[in-house]
Amino acid sequence: MGEPAPVRLYNTFTRTKETLVPATPGIVRMYSCGPTVYRYVHVGNLRTFMLPDLLSRTLEYLGYEIERVMNITDVGHLTDDTFDRGEDKMLVSARLEKKSPEEIAAFYTEAFMHDAASVNIRPAAHYPRASDYVPQMIELITKLIEKGHAYEVGGTIYYDIASFTAYGKLSRNTTDKLLAGARGEVDPRKRHPGDFTLWKAAGAHRLQVWPSPWGPGFPGWHIECSAMSMSLLGARFDIHTGGADNVFPHHEAEIAQSEGVTGHRVVSLWLHAGLLMLAGSRMAKSAGNFFRIRELEDQGFDPLAFRYLALQAKYRTKLNFSEDGLAGADRALRNLRERLQEWSAESSETAGDSDAAAAFEARFRSAIADDLDLPAAMALVSELTRSAIARPDKATLLRRWDRVLGLDLDRSVPDLELPAGAANLLEARERARDAKDFARADQLRDELAAAGVVVTDTPEGQRWKVQVGKQRDRTSRPGPAPTTP
Ligand SMILES: [Zn+2]
Repeated sequence: MGEPAPVRLYNTFTRTKETLVPATPGIVRMYSCGPTVYRYVHVGNLRTFMLPDLLSRTLEYLGYEIERVMNITDVGHLTDDTFDRGEDKMLVSARLEKKSPEEIAAFYTEAFMHDAASVNIRPAAHYPRASDYVPQMIELITKLIEKGHAYEVGGTIYYDIASFTAYGKLSRNTTDKLLAGARGEVDPRKRHPGDFTLWKAAGAHRLQVWPSPWGPGFPGWHIECSAMSMSLLGARFDIHTGGADNVFPHHEAEIAQSEGVTGHRVVSLWLHAGLLMLAGSRMAKSAGNFFRIRELEDQGFDPLAFRYLALQAKYRTKLNFSEDGLAGADRALRNLRERLQEWSAESSETAGDSDAAAAFEARFRSAIADDLDLPAAMALVSELTRSAIARPDKATLLRRWDRVLGLDLDRSVPDLELPAGAANLLEARERARDAKDFARADQLRDELAAAGVVVTDTPEGQRWKVQVGKQRDRTSRPGPAPTTP
């Protein structure tokens, strides 16, 4: 393979698509904000973690090498608000589950790895744990104090946002909005209500406490990512990803910290995954409206149907999640696998070499190189399946594209089991047809359809097919809990 192909990516910082220019030619260094491991991830989180996976698959496909880091937040502080209330979510979990913070973190880290693997998110090269980088965080905070970007009050260190003129640039937040972001009880010792915590003096009730030059305490959430990203990828790296909800305050703070210490731009491109919406609200653990991938699997969905669904939307737009949408994705995925199985039976040595195949390949590459336009890539998949090009060519292209899509298109499709009672209905319908009682036969066909079994009549008798995602009992699962904004 020759030169890597040019790739354009939407940079949240500049609000434009920019050409990726790796600091080291051909090698892309990428940092992604990972899970907080005091709870399970939901499919909204998985959509966010799919972005670095899709990005690295795309870049590899186009000829780049990737070095990817995703952190594990096992020091459980989410926002300044929770700080101010003295509440640490890791410790809340530890209390509720009667385990140590380390046991909680290990348990949910493993659950995260499992859930990510089930939607074909390939592992990063490094998964640093925040608790292993506290000395590096203390070093950064010390430098920020030296450079006049941070100040101490009673063992707690705040970042002085007024000292960093670019503060607010990533999120396009004005001073008013920054003020509005500082809700709840604000420490009156702060110079500006928007100043965020770098280090928090420990209260007596805490379990995770580290010594520091300012006394015992624990790090803020934002400093974790500055420390881990620069420790592992250096003071200049190419891509940083996260969810749209990380732009402010998390990434705004990270820029202020990392650039405050180094005095230069650290991250070239900031990429953010759009939120996953459920019934009009953001899918969120705190609001109680969320699904785990395991729950969807238990309902009979292929976890990769969720990946298929995610590929239908631009990674940075909001995506509405619904069970009907997921069921449609599940059927489409199954269909695609069935087609590939048929075409593979006719494979030939020269497959993929035709001009028509080359044209499809070129269009696929330009779609993914244009800010990961996966909806366009998926539209090409549909166009390819309907096209007149040779079936072995179709099979070769689909298999190759699946390196980016990650849908396991080569997986063989097992026949679905008949739902309970359907076999009796099918038998009864056969008898009704034999007796030429077509009204009864039609009625039974409707009953079977309602149970997710599609019946067609052929000269050889009736044929049936179970539809994925239709055979589930929709009344057995409680709906999402009411949400709060
Ligand atoms: Zn982060």
